[in-house]
Amino acid sequence: MEKLGFGFLRLPLKDKRDEHSIDYDVLNFLADRFIKKGGRYFDTAYTYLGGAAEEAVKISLSDRYPRDAFILADKLPSWMIRSKDDCRKIFEKQLSRCGVDFFDVYLLHWLNETNYITAENCGEFEFLQELKSEGKAIKTGFSFHDSPKLLEKILSAHPEIDCVQLQINYLDWESPAFRARECYEIAEKHGKEIIVMEPVKGGTLAKLPKAAEEILRKENPETSAASWAIRFAKNLPSVTTVLSGMNSIEQLEENLEKFSPLSGKELSALQKAAEIIRSETAVPCTGCSYCKGVCPLQIPIPEYFEVFNEYSRNPDEGWKIEHAYSALTRNFSRPSDCLRCRLCEMNCPQKIAVSDELQKVARVFGF
Ligand code: SF4
Ligand code: SF4
Repeated sequence: MEKLGFGFLRLPLKDKRDEHSIDYDVLNFLADRFIKKGGRYFDTAYTYLGGAAEEAVKISLSDRYPRDAFILADKLPSWMIRSKDDCRKIFEKQLSRCGVDFFDVYLLHWLNETNYITAENCGEFEFLQELKSEGKAIKTGFSFHDSPKLLEKILSAHPEIDCVQLQINYLDWESPAFRARECYEIAEKHGKEIIVMEPVKGGTLAKLPKAAEEILRKENPETSAASWAIRFAKNLPSVTTVLSGMNSIEQLEENLEKFSPLSGKELSALQKAAEIIRSETAVPCTGCSYCKGVCPLQIPIPEYFEVFNEYSRNPDEGWKIEHAYSALTRNFSRPSDCLRCRLCEMNCPQKIAVSDELQKVARVFGF
């Protein structure tokens, strides 16, 4: 159980199209099992599932468990803040939604070049320190999606923060776009606790191309693809918590598997697998859905990318995938409807050129 955290970004839903339709029978079962096996860390944010993820904390945890049974991390939406008063208003709402009177960990959500400027201009870092002195946040920090250079700048300017949440997985570790290893090393050098998000890259590393799967199976036939990814993140010495979305019983049980450190041979097998996955993943979308809320046409962007990636990996089974694509186009706007306004791209932590990729999707499926 060591280091595992329960992420509330992707929760079990009764209706995949309705982010408020949380299936509490499943969620409560998963939370109970996680706690029974020694898990304590839960992570949510103001914007996850349009606010429903914070309400789920209240329903599944604070209404059912004493406060010291769980460690709760929440995040301030840095991009929505216009003044320090906004910080306070949102924070109070978060406490109320979650049914708690303090957070164990409180982070500025999603610092990048733009949001960092907002955070400095609006006194968000001072606000974190106020919360700490009031006992309303035990540890403070930020989640981060940008370059190692910016991370160095922020950590040098704010030595008072305790932890950093980084996107780390074996696919992004040496990726020139994400530079996860460099970010990890900077946070480590500054002596920060490192919380890992997206260790399975939104599910991408749970379902591998055949060639990558074979490399890993040869090395260790017992370990599932998702467990390999979780082990990679847990293996890093400065990582204190590895967040994993657990929206099914199978996923939870996989994550609960006993952790064993990776050998040198296993690490090189993972790097070989990463090369294959990179060459076979058409669009590196993690399914976080940050783009969906801003699209004027409400195009289900991650769903189209999921279908497209599946098609790119298995073109021989294209007919099955076309069926899923048609179903999406019947219920929602099509990729070809995209207005190319690029609002979604400003919100994409993976820096995907969404509008260009949607055009490719439309071309491949023919409509
Ligand atoms: S570029 Fe296309 S997909 Fe993105 S927000 Fe605009 S209309 Fe939606
Ligand atoms: S396109 Fe970007 S913002 Fe949208 S779901 Fe994928 S990774 Fe997230």
